[in-house]
Amino acid sequence: CGQWARAAAIIKELEEKCGTPIAKLRHVADAMTVEMHAGLASEGGSKLKMIISYVDNLPTGNEKGLFYALDLGGTNFRVLRVQLGGKDRGLVNQEFTEVSIPENLMVGTSEALFNFIAAELSKFVAKEGPEYQLPPGRQRELGFTFSFPVQQSSINSGSLIKWTKGFSIDDTVGQDVVAELSKAIERQGLDMRVSALVNDTVGTLAGGRYNNPDVVAAVILGTGTNAAYVERAQAIPKWHGLLPKSGDMVINMEWGNFRSAHLPLTEYDHSLDTESLNPGDQIFEKLISGMYLGEIVRRALCRIAEEASIFGETVPPKLKVPFILRTPDMSAMHHDTSYDLKVVRDILKNVLEISNTSLKVRKLIVELCNIVATRGARLAAAGILGVLKKLGKDLVRIGEKQKTVVALDGGLFEHYTEYSKCMENTLRELLGEEVGESIVIEHSNDGSGIGAALIAASHSQYL
Ligand code: ADP
Ligand code: MG
Repeated sequence: CGQWARAAAIIKELEEKCGTPIAKLRHVADAMTVEMHAGLASEGGSKLKMIISYVDNLPTGNEKGLFYALDLGGTNFRVLRVQLGGKDRGLVNQEFTEVSIPENLMVGTSEALFNFIAAELSKFVAKEGPEYQLPPGRQRELGFTFSFPVQQSSINSGSLIKWTKGFSIDDTVGQDVVAELSKAIERQGLDMRVSALVNDTVGTLAGGRYNNPDVVAAVILGTGTNAAYVERAQAIPKWHGLLPKSGDMVINMEWGNFRSAHLPLTEYDHSLDTESLNPGDQIFEKLISGMYLGEIVRRALCRIAEEASIFGETVPPKLKVPFILRTPDMSAMHHDTSYDLKVVRDILKNVLEISNTSLKVRKLIVELCNIVATRGARLAAAGILGVLKKLGKDLVRIGEKQKTVVALDGGLFEHYTEYSKCMENTLRELLGEEVGESIVIEHSNDGSGIGAALIAASHSQYL
């Protein structure tokens, strides 16, 4: 009847608007490469900030000693302690705790957020045994992984450019986040030095390199998304400092803020963006990352409910609540293999308070999830191709046997299997068989924290 025809028409339109044929993905990849060049050429030259990380040496395996890391992501934060044994022994020991960030702190004051973080750090240290006592007079050292755009001014200082991913704390913007953290640590009465400030992508790159010398880039697909890679310092026109001995500089792309006329945007993306905390910003992130995928599905479903009355005459009130449908729920529905789609049924009931759904409705919802996840995953693959192009690794080089490894991490990549499979398949499709063989995607499990600790080790005040 008319209602189903209408629903089918809306879905069909969505599918067309979200279409990512290979030719389009190549345009996206090319645009990414172009923006990378522009961002490296001059400060403010591109939507891509291409931030100089001050990391000009990646871990070698020789790092030694006891180091801490703090990893502030978008959803959780972790406190980590690693014991590094040097060349022969590697990572001897690691311990961590994970705490979710109370929502009120994401939109409160800078002091409240940093106090909370420092208090957790202090608790973590207070619990440790005598084996972790440092010799008298020796300060503990910490690497701070901070997954928001920061204008670095040295390896352990940098000011916040803006918040992303649902954080909005005005008084932190423009402040040195290391100074903020250090003050909070001091208020806790803890004696600890912040030796390195790194973006999570840079941490993941470092953690990945520690395990595999062929790692040259890192991509995060979590609450948000971003990428970092190793650039030749000479290829960074905006860098006016001394050329590092290594000749290399890690660049934090801040690719979440990428945008291009080639990106397939729908009415749902436009309204999501307009109503977000950061309208006009982070458009790539809003298409591909975990914070937003479920919300895009909710918006499309809401429109179908309004126009095709698939849940009856009135739109179920919960369906109108922004961000109520989270990406882990979307992913669970997408992965539902039961013949009657029980998982979909339960999530509709428990999250959206919609009961008595027909199988037909549940199938429609799985299809929605598939359309939105596929677009995100394929665009993420195009982004990676853009980085590989910049590195000159998108073509076959005669006689070259060395692998090019991209370290990936983040909850979305790790848990949303349909998404990560689609992303990897699309990358293979884009690269072709021959080049595809030399490119490896490696899951770097929680490399960002360990990476920050490794970078803190190589910038220790005691070296
Ligand atoms: P962050 O990006 O905050 O540092 P993570 O890398 O742990 O943290 O990613 C967490 C994000 O990953 C969540 O916000 C969510 O969007 C996504 N995620 C977590 N679990 C799942 C899941 N099962 N399916 C899909 N996405 C998930
Ligand atoms: Mg993270």
